[in-house]
Amino acid sequence: MQLPKAHTELVKQLLGDEFPQWEKSFGEAPPVSIRVNPLKWKNNYPGTRIPWCETGYYLPSRPSFTMDPFFHAGYYYVQEASSMGIEQAMNQLVDLSKNVKVLDLCAAPGGKSTHLLSLITENSLLVSNEVIRSRANILVENLVKWGRDNFIVTNNDPEHIGELTEFFDVMLADAPCSGEGLFRRDHDAMKEWSAGAVELCTMRQRRIILDAWPALKENGFLIYSTCTFNEEENEKNIVWLKEKIKFESVELQFPADWGIVETKKNGIHGYRFFPHRLKGEGFFLTVLQKKEHSSSKPGKQKPVMNLLNNREKELVKNYVNDPARFDFFSFDGLVTLFRKTISSEMQTVCRRLNVVHAGLAIAELAKGLKAVHPLAVSTELNRRNFPEVELSKEDALKFLAREEVKLVGEKTGMTLVTFKGAPLGWLNALGNRANNLYPKEWRIRHL
Ligand code: SAM
Repeated sequence: MQLPKAHTELVKQLLGDEFPQWEKSFGEAPPVSIRVNPLKWKNNYPGTRIPWCETGYYLPSRPSFTMDPFFHAGYYYVQEASSMGIEQAMNQLVDLSKNVKVLDLCAAPGGKSTHLLSLITENSLLVSNEVIRSRANILVENLVKWGRDNFIVTNNDPEHIGELTEFFDVMLADAPCSGEGLFRRDHDAMKEWSAGAVELCTMRQRRIILDAWPALKENGFLIYSTCTFNEEENEKNIVWLKEKIKFESVELQFPADWGIVETKKNGIHGYRFFPHRLKGEGFFLTVLQKKEHSSSKPGKQKPVMNLLNNREKELVKNYVNDPARFDFFSFDGLVTLFRKTISSEMQTVCRRLNVVHAGLAIAELAKGLKAVHPLAVSTELNRRNFPEVELSKEDALKFLAREEVKLVGEKTGMTLVTFKGAPLGWLNALGNRANNLYPKEWRIRHL
């Protein structure tokens, strides 16, 4: 594999004597790692723990994730180990037993958003934003499968996010970058790399932070991360921002034997994950604490959301455990639930931003209040309310490919499909035959 020369020169400057070890690491296979979903995965854990993430594991080899029904059921997320480092920032900055409002500004495909959902309380709120519309769909898919309901997926430019003035306690900006830290596993990123591309990324990253900055509360934390090594997109960007906005750089603590390298440039604390020092790819992390107040700007507001009428609510309220905890809305043709504790904040976001998915969608309004997919994979599903059918692995994969599944026995109506007890989705059973209601766009395409 031929690394771009200008890039290796840059890393040489950064690493000095360690450069040969770094170069050697490019000939080695990248480690395989997953992060389990603690609300779903209750069995034995699958491999060696990643030191900086409670739920992160290295696997001894790469299985076929597509052919594993648990993967589709949201039992785990396949994620590069270094990027799980944000858990340390969250642990050290935030009292995670308290309710917080968190923004994931550049969120697709959802690795860090699913991680954040596992770290915050169920009465905290995550707004997970992706500016590219097509990528917002994959973000919804991954978050829905994770099974939580305290999140909203938005599709906005950071400029519009900034209109939610002083709303968030924590903002994660996992910025689009030149991807130097991923060259070993992503050869396309390597082909696209150039000094010009680094400069373009730098400009974009600055704009993203400056535009979204007003949405962070005074004294709130911005976690800035990239998967690239060069200083332009990392420390130097933060130094540049010091002229524009008021913040303090926050120091984090990492045990020395984890191999994470601390950098300090012009008073900015940075944390670097290098593939030759630890089992993971390249990653950079820094934290800024906001030290100024942003005044609010009038933004456009959409109409308020409609509560579901009582007759319809009666019909669907037992779809979830303990329905008294939720407000029931009719939203975008769906019965949608917001936790009462955060309902008002969720409605504020829905009025101000371009929402792609919000809370927990449980039923279609137009089709006789038929249950919808997010309910099947939600940790709030009331399983006593629906018949279930347990499938073999072969049939579960057919179901996930949206093929016909034969039913033995006389089941009728909306039936929850499970594999080893894990809910996968819905079948509408019509005696021995059944309509497969697995979402078309999410199906396995090649069995
Ligand atoms: N945080 C994600 C995760 O853990 O799965 C990965 C995010 S990726 C490094 C950066 C994201 O920023 C991409 O999804 C990309 O579409 C988005 N992006 C690109 N240009 C952007 C912009 N101008 N403003 C905000 N986000 C942008």
